[in-house]
Amino acid sequence: MRISAVKTYILETKLSEPFHWAIGEATHRGSCVVEIITDTGLSGWGECFGPSRPAAAMVDAYKPWLIGADPLASDKIWQDLYAAFRDQGQKGVPICAISGIDIALWDIKGKHFNAPIHQLMGGPIRTEVRAYATGTYRKRTGDPMDYIVREVADYQQQGFSAAKLKIGFDVAEDIALVKAVRNAVGPDFGLMLDANHGYDSIDAIRLAQAVEPLNIGWFEEPVPPEDLQGYLAVKAATSIPMAGGECEYTRFGFREILNRGAIDYLQPDTCAAGGLSECKKIADMANAFGVRMIPHVWGTGIGLSASLNLLAVLPHNPPGRRPWEPLLEFDRSEHPARQAIMIEPIDHLKGIVAIPTGPGLGIEIDRDVLATFCID
Ligand code: CA
Repeated sequence: MRISAVKTYILETKLSEPFHWAIGEATHRGSCVVEIITDTGLSGWGECFGPSRPAAAMVDAYKPWLIGADPLASDKIWQDLYAAFRDQGQKGVPICAISGIDIALWDIKGKHFNAPIHQLMGGPIRTEVRAYATGTYRKRTGDPMDYIVREVADYQQQGFSAAKLKIGFDVAEDIALVKAVRNAVGPDFGLMLDANHGYDSIDAIRLAQAVEPLNIGWFEEPVPPEDLQGYLAVKAATSIPMAGGECEYTRFGFREILNRGAIDYLQPDTCAAGGLSECKKIADMANAFGVRMIPHVWGTGIGLSASLNLLAVLPHNPPGRRPWEPLLEFDRSEHPARQAIMIEPIDHLKGIVAIPTGPGLGIEIDRDVLATFCID
């Protein structure tokens, strides 16, 4: 079996209502979907996190190393692609492109062997995961103290046992919001904070110390991703665990975070950090360092099913009768293509999501629907 074609699909849809976080705003939701086609007719799907057009251009740039290659040799291909642009492409879009390609290769491998990816990766260790709700983005109008408190209470009503609250705007305002949400959902509901690196370490410490008594699960991206010293400063000043990693790439990038002991919850994105192959290696490194890992998830059903296959094989650390279990980041914000491109959507039941059991990623793509979201 040989790779005969590599296709990219640039998805983009205007949102019914723009939403924003500490450092940016979304008016559209998009994605770069990758399809790798083989000479036997088998094809596999992948997805790249990040800006769609540059990711698609990078996938195109990797084509000379892909066409004619054995798609089952996914680790060899990973190394060939990484080596091709190693000198200028160690982080960012080139690795997002490799991620989409790697996921598509694993989808082919699973279909070829008629097995789910997690089985070929040596699992599953778990067949379902507890999901936490990601949302609480800001709207252009309205009072966040009102609509965000209601949104989190709504997640609780739907059966979620945890949700993540977006902060990073203004310390005093953010503290008031965290208190209002905690008050609304009671003391035991899982509540995590995500500043989207909107603070520096001084503000992050002020925020963390003020909300520390409110049972906060983790403090995500308190400071910019390059500022590991800032992570260490915040970590030293609070008992709230640090989370981050959605802007970090490959085993080499995560090695630095782990060596520095900067982050307690590692959050590589399967569609960005190097795909399923690389995220499994990062997971095993995290395991060796005694650090928890909860993948970052922000994409269509393709990225979601890739993340679920990865979650299925994350090792227990330590194993035991009641070991700590990783959570699924379940994005609840508007993304019209997310579930629509799949013939069977992936949903939660009272906050629990089943790991797909079909061959490869375990999903089927509706090509007609996919085409309706494509631009160019
Ligand atoms: Ca985040």
